[in-house]
Amino acid sequence: MKVLVTGGCGYIGSHTVRALTAAGHQVVVLDSLVTGHRVALDERVPLIVGDLCDRQLLGELFQSERFDAVVHFAAFIEVGESVRDPLKFYENNVANTINLLQAMQVSGVRKLVFSSTCAVYGTPDTMPLVETMACNPASPYARAKYAVEWALDDSSAAWQLGYAALRYFNAAGAASDATIGEDHDPESHLIPNVLKVALGQRENVKIFGTDYETPDGTCLRDYIHVEDLAAAHVAAVEALQPGERRIYNTGTGVGASVREVIDVSRQVTGHAIPAIEESRRPGDVPRLFADSSKIQRELGWSPKYKELREIVASAWRWHQSHPEGYGDRRRSS
Ligand code: UDP
Repeated sequence: MKVLVTGGCGYIGSHTVRALTAAGHQVVVLDSLVTGHRVALDERVPLIVGDLCDRQLLGELFQSERFDAVVHFAAFIEVGESVRDPLKFYENNVANTINLLQAMQVSGVRKLVFSSTCAVYGTPDTMPLVETMACNPASPYARAKYAVEWALDDSSAAWQLGYAALRYFNAAGAASDATIGEDHDPESHLIPNVLKVALGQRENVKIFGTDYETPDGTCLRDYIHVEDLAAAHVAAVEALQPGERRIYNTGTGVGASVREVIDVSRQVTGHAIPAIEESRRPGDVPRLFADSSKIQRELGWSPKYKELREIVASAWRWHQSHPEGYGDRRRSS
């Protein structure tokens, strides 16, 4: 298949580009490089540096290339920023996705894999999360993702768009050869922040909230290896047919607490990793983990990395070999 990958220079995008290429697909990447990294992409993969707000560029691209499918990552990701500046998120994550969909509709491309989020569920009472549960997204980030899910659903009905919305849980880890990995600026995610302490770049890690109704009082999350997540995209795009609606939780089904992540990181790195207990971070929910039996059943996908220790070890190999990440940007923190 010939696949357009938007945001293919980002964290999950770059791992998915590799997985698609390894599976024999022809990939073209569209990335603005606002947050993505040119060096995360193999030189042999064509890169178009451009933004999804550029409708002329999209029109020309879909006219000149005959894509079979699109895998759409390009989006802003920081939840806290979405609360402070919601319209930035509605503009980029919703309006610009509409530009992409319009270009697809005009050129007859009817397969799309979309990066959604488990945050669309909000704060449900029961775990694990199942795709049929009611959605109640709480942040502008999650609402924008959910708004796109509706646009996909309506497009499926109206012009036979086939879509797979992958509701991601907590992506972590790095490529098995440690040549690409996680490099966000600023970095808000737990595992990289813990490992930056082990690298000596930070003095301690903050535990946001120790009074949650969980076994050890800290939040539980479902950490999924980025290569497993990439494999889910490949399986989805290969299975998809025009007009289909597929919504999948992509997690491992296992919840790990913040304290467990720090403990495992201590074992993996051999570093003491001092931790400081802080108050809750606004917007965090106590527990999020997936029932991913639907994608396992329908696509035959299952996570290869089942142990948190393997995921942390993989992230550690990347951070040790790339202490400054890709080293292509001046850091804000
Ligand atoms: N967290 C933490 N310290 C940090 C970063 C995150 O205690 O430096 C906690 C956060 O409050 C949440 C969990 O770790 O309970 C996972 O947060 P992350 O930002 O990695 O992912 P999220 O689940 O928010 O998408």
